[in-house]
Amino acid sequence: MPVTVIQGDIIQLEVDAIVNAANESLLGGGGVDGAIHRAAGPELLEETKQMGGCPTGQAKLSAAYRLPCKGIIHTVGPVWEGGASGEPALLGACYRNSLALAKEAGYTSIAFPAISTGVYGYPVPQAAVVAVRTVLAEMPEDMQVYLVCFRAEDAAVYQGVLTALDR
Ligand code: ADP
Repeated sequence: MPVTVIQGDIIQLEVDAIVNAANESLLGGGGVDGAIHRAAGPELLEETKQMGGCPTGQAKLSAAYRLPCKGIIHTVGPVWEGGASGEPALLGACYRNSLALAKEAGYTSIAFPAISTGVYGYPVPQAAVVAVRTVLAEMPEDMQVYLVCFRAEDAAVYQGVLTALDR
């Protein structure tokens, strides 16, 4: 399957690229961002400090340091403000721009976390629809995409949306 939902910890995946749900500073944070920085090592912060931040919806590539993947794509999801502030378009842009960057780098596998559904407060069912729709529409040929959910209940929601839309 070119798109697969899995439950687990994204930092352990031996894929070409893992995607970090970062913030605009790219200086690290909590959630998956903190886990990635801790596992990659301090060299990651040294690199992301030089990147000049990243606007919401955009994506930037760094090295992976101590992680088993080849590269880390840092993207910044929207903060949920009720849904009428452009959140779906911005969240879709995170997936689209990350996929484009992976393709440009020659990668053939990529793992996304459930961007914006933690501290940024995006409701999981809505975020899952945007994630699955965008990945199905924008995925380059020959790319294996993993949608990685830390919580089992989130994985069930993403899987349900994938099953409904992937036909
Ligand atoms: P955001 O600020 O974009 O909301 P968070 O990191 O707070 O980002 O949360 C995004 C999602 O990442 C949440 O669903 C959270 O459960 C999940 N998450 C946290 N740690 C990990 C991890 N190590 N691997 C995969 N997903 C994770």
